[in-house]
Amino acid sequence: MTLAYIGLGANLGEAQDSLKQAAAELARVPGISALTLSPFYGSAPVDSSGPDYVNAVATIETTLDARTLLAALQKIELDHGRLRPYRNAPRTLDLDLLLYGDQEIDEPELTVPHPRMHQRAFVLKPLADLAPTLRLRQGSLAELLEACSGQRLEQI
Ligand code: ATP
Ligand code: CA
Ligand code: CA
Repeated sequence: MTLAYIGLGANLGEAQDSLKQAAAELARVPGISALTLSPFYGSAPVDSSGPDYVNAVATIETTLDARTLLAALQKIELDHGRLRPYRNAPRTLDLDLLLYGDQEIDEPELTVPHPRMHQRAFVLKPLADLAPTLRLRQGSLAELLEACSGQRLEQI
């Protein structure tokens, strides 16, 4: 059994509802159990456009390997009508595999830990809500959050 962290985000449609539904769908995937969802946060798009984002993080326990888990996340995105018209386009649902136990994977289709998570307040804050003492390679969550204190983020 592996403890994994999933980042959830959306900025089109009923974004909060999409995140709640996605979490419920994730919890029903065979091989996934014990889902815990963080509070929701609103944030301005970074390197992106469109309405504000809603973001959250979920922890799960899973017997799926990392690639199978990513495939399950991508299926849920597609079920929510996710299109990829261009890089960083607004989206109905984005599910990123942030951490998969302490495993490190470095492939184009799957890089874990997620290579940009340590720079993003909208990931670090909900992550700290779930796992305040967690450390990333780059530092403690508190240190990393301090470094992105310029990013607007509000709990909703
Ligand atoms: P970012 O990765 O910066 O948050 P994004 O979520 O908008 O950007 P996507 O268009 O959703 O990027 O994903 C592009 C590709 O990233 C996917 O096809 C997927 O194979 C790959 N990928 C690599 N590592 C991961 C990961 N840890 N979680 C999810 N997708 C990943
Ligand atoms: Ca993402
Ligand atoms: Ca993604």
